[in-house]
Amino acid sequence: MKVLIIGGVAAGMSAAARLRRLDEAAEIVVLERGEHVSFANCGLPYHIGGVIQERDSLLLQTPQTLKESLNLDVRTRHEARNIDRAGRRVQVTDLATGREYDEPYDKLVLCPGAAPLRPPLPSVDHPRLFTLRNLADMDRILDVVAATAAPGKNTPAAAVVIGGGYIGLEMAENLRHRGLAVELVEMLDQVLPPLDPEMARDLETGLRRHGVGVHLGAAVAAFHDRAGRIAVEIKGGRMFEADLAILAAGVKPDSALATACGLDCGPRGGIRVDAHLRTADPDIYAAGDAIEVVDAVTGQPSVIPLAGPANRQGRIVADNLAGRDSVYPGTQGTAIVKLFDLTAGGTGASEKNLQRLGRPYRKIYLHPTGHAGYYPGTAPMHLKLLFAPDTGKILGAQITGYDGVDKRLDVFATAIRAGLTVEDLQQLELAYAPPYGAAKDPVNMAGFVAANLRRGDVAFWYAEELPTLPAGHLLLDVRSPQEFELGHLPGAVNFPLSRLREQLDTLAKDRPLRVYCKVGLRSYLAYRLLRQRGFMDVQTLAGGLLTFNRVHPAPAAPGGTGDRPVAPTFGAAPVRATGRSPLRVDCCGLQCPGPLQRLAREAAALKPGNELVVTATDPGFPADAKAWCEGQGHALLEMMPLAGGRNEARIRISGTA
Ligand code: FAD
Repeated sequence: MKVLIIGGVAAGMSAAARLRRLDEAAEIVVLERGEHVSFANCGLPYHIGGVIQERDSLLLQTPQTLKESLNLDVRTRHEARNIDRAGRRVQVTDLATGREYDEPYDKLVLCPGAAPLRPPLPSVDHPRLFTLRNLADMDRILDVVAATAAPGKNTPAAAVVIGGGYIGLEMAENLRHRGLAVELVEMLDQVLPPLDPEMARDLETGLRRHGVGVHLGAAVAAFHDRAGRIAVEIKGGRMFEADLAILAAGVKPDSALATACGLDCGPRGGIRVDAHLRTADPDIYAAGDAIEVVDAVTGQPSVIPLAGPANRQGRIVADNLAGRDSVYPGTQGTAIVKLFDLTAGGTGASEKNLQRLGRPYRKIYLHPTGHAGYYPGTAPMHLKLLFAPDTGKILGAQITGYDGVDKRLDVFATAIRAGLTVEDLQQLELAYAPPYGAAKDPVNMAGFVAANLRRGDVAFWYAEELPTLPAGHLLLDVRSPQEFELGHLPGAVNFPLSRLREQLDTLAKDRPLRVYCKVGLRSYLAYRLLRQRGFMDVQTLAGGLLTFNRVHPAPAAPGGTGDRPVAPTFGAAPVRATGRSPLRVDCCGLQCPGPLQRLAREAAALKPGNELVVTATDPGFPADAKAWCEGQGHALLEMMPLAGGRNEARIRISGTA
């Protein structure tokens, strides 16, 4: 059997290597248009950023090593131009010599991947506009970065990243690592579109904190030349001039060869295959970014360009070529991204996707820490879980945070694949010691909350329902008076949880009570109390104010755009010296209202003019500390974001020393 494989990276090389392991006798030829096979395309942004220092470490194999280890005939710089299905031949061009020849096959495997989208905009072929797919693209970008960041220049080189998806975010981070001034423009009203908008808000904040200008709802209208530099024009007239621009506006399946030979494409433009990854032609298989897959959660046709699925599909094709019966179970879109010190990702269906398909779902939010709060180096994550109301089956999960995001995402991904329910999550026995997790792991916690909801032990109201809350409702803020004073929802009344039992008589039993607190724990306790005391219509705000503030983000910063960083640069900038050593208080790991209570207690013991430096991981701390200082008349000298979700406030106690 002679097997010809078009495309020599993730899917193609997986197919070739596994087929050899299963069939020593097969003749296996791989055609790869580019200069390299089996290279680490996922690592390209990190070499641009200098994180992966050696270019060669991205080159995993060469035709020679593949010949020696697996007896594969790998031909780089050989492009498949045309497929003659009747004659079972592929027309090939050797790009190095220009020679054309026909390569016969018994079985053909199409793994040509996906091509970056290049919208037909004016000057889209500008030489300073780059897409990133392979090492040649990476080298071109690095050349411009090196040339424009030449020593002696007193302004940093500038880049515009177009598109806030996974590759756009990675490029923004890595160009910042190289010292470039970076503007990120995104046509939608959020970055990382696979996530729901409220789950992407922390990424937008994270970008700004690291000095990246973030411009949402900004569609590119045209590109212009400015004496060799590039200007990116946004619809509405705004213009960003830069030394280079990265077009990371998504990819589309590279299905041209397949359609040219009469193979079918699905509604999303990917090559249509059956569960065995065979096209309509029994001698042609296809795998990787080029194919249309079934979404494993929704059952819908989908194109999901990810390395894991591409590799696994390659293996399945090889199995089937070797006579085994191997079926691809669909893709659930598990993906993750690092953005400076943040991590974000999702698995399964998003809420917006479920809404678009009209599928029933329930959702919960929680903010557990990545590991035990009392062990250093953790911060709360923002976790969203979607599940089926009738069966409790998990439909999707999304997390944004600092430590431990990846392992929870992978547990949820496994749970979805195994068809587990939220009740099952409660019982998962997960590894725990303080540096790694919690005795009640975030995954267990998500199970507890969701199972409570399904059992009717809790009822939620959601941030987006604020304008449509029932007539006559009472918004009950159960935080402390101190927190309430610092800010609360319009119309809310303060019934601190600690005094709620004494105040019950003042509340009508049949009035709709919409309870909230900062993260949802105190309001859940209040909910249980109220329901058991006979209050009929009680609901607690899902995810508390932390989620609320991400659903209803604060209006743009002064200047009207909200584009500028909230802090000049991220990192350990020294606090201003005052001659006196400040009292340092570490509130990391404390959840609200812990940091504020501690702050108030420590401040009360200080003299006017003394300074206090407080570090906290509670995401609400910067806003709370600012409001508290204003309320108390103390001076907030500095609020410095630090790595790992920590914020450091430097406060001078009011009065004179
Ligand atoms: P590819 O890996 O793109 O390989 C297809 C190959 O086919 C190409 O090398 C192409 O030159 C060749 N080819 C096409 N047409 C022809 C032809 N006519 N003749 C000969 N050869 C041809 N995924 C993740 O899951 N996680 C990540 O972190 C991640 N990061 C990424 C970062 C970047 C910068 C990029 C570009 C992608 C990233 N991906 C990531 C996506 C992942 O790399 C792809 O999903 C995966 O490589 C797809 O594998 P594939 O084999 O289908 O296509």
